[in-house]
Amino acid sequence: MRVTILGNNSALPAFGRHPSAQTVTVFGEVLLLDCGEGTQLQMQRYGVKWKNVHHIFISHLHGDHYFGLPGLINSMSLLGRIAPLHLYAPAGLRPIIDAILAVADTRLCYELHFHPLPAGTEVIADTDVFSVTCFPLQHGIECHGFLVTTKTRGRRILPDRCKEYGIAPEYFEALKRGEDHTMPDGTVVKNAWVTADGPAPKKYAYCSDTVYTESFLPLIQGADGIYHEATYLHQDAARAAMRHHSTAIQAATLAQKANARTLLLGHFSSKYKELEPFREEAATIFPNVVIGMEGMAYDL
Ligand SMILES: [Zn+2]
Ligand SMILES: [Zn+2]
Repeated sequence: MRVTILGNNSALPAFGRHPSAQTVTVFGEVLLLDCGEGTQLQMQRYGVKWKNVHHIFISHLHGDHYFGLPGLINSMSLLGRIAPLHLYAPAGLRPIIDAILAVADTRLCYELHFHPLPAGTEVIADTDVFSVTCFPLQHGIECHGFLVTTKTRGRRILPDRCKEYGIAPEYFEALKRGEDHTMPDGTVVKNAWVTADGPAPKKYAYCSDTVYTESFLPLIQGADGIYHEATYLHQDAARAAMRHHSTAIQAATLAQKANARTLLLGHFSSKYKELEPFREEAATIFPNVVIGMEGMAYDL
């Protein structure tokens, strides 16, 4: 599972930083989480191929989280996209997209499936390689976080043991599914003799704009990675609360309580030019913290 940051600033672009967008790559499938202004340019800059994007998730309808979407949707059509695209977002986004397409008499050359987000905690996407659960955040308007979980790819083949028992590679898929193997003479080779546990599923929680809340803590417990907004430093905690945002200390507190492995910070206010103080502040609570720098890829 790889997270690539495309935008790490809050409401305004500043100091070369862009509004919120990031991708999560799972077995070659690219999930786009939020789509702030300029996202398609950032995708080009950092080599994110739109052909690999089939699922886009929008946390809420503040412009810094979706103003890049109409452009991206339009470009995909101009570039001859055929594959369907699934868009998961608050219900209010649909008439906006419909109006933008209608006034220009634009017909997309691919199917755009709109999935309005539910109010509660619910699995909203479920494929062979990943699932996504949305959960409510507290941000003054309807706002959602997303938990991306990879699917296990089955058991891991032990080639030397298979060779010992004389099992040909054509039977490996069945072994990966956990089946025992029956030899031509009727002897049964137990699955556990020739395979080992596959890689454990990974969990990545995307906590977009929110005040500090532990309401979703049980869901993200033990996550391999947590992204949490840190719009302000602790000295501006009162302003953070007033504007329904969090501080670096609060993001770190949540990561620590969730027993996460890694914390990624982002959504920095334009009042801060330097970002290192965010890392320093969070590290006093949770040591494995990184600043989500644009263009950087983080393997979880
Ligand atoms: Zn925002
Ligand atoms: Zn917001």
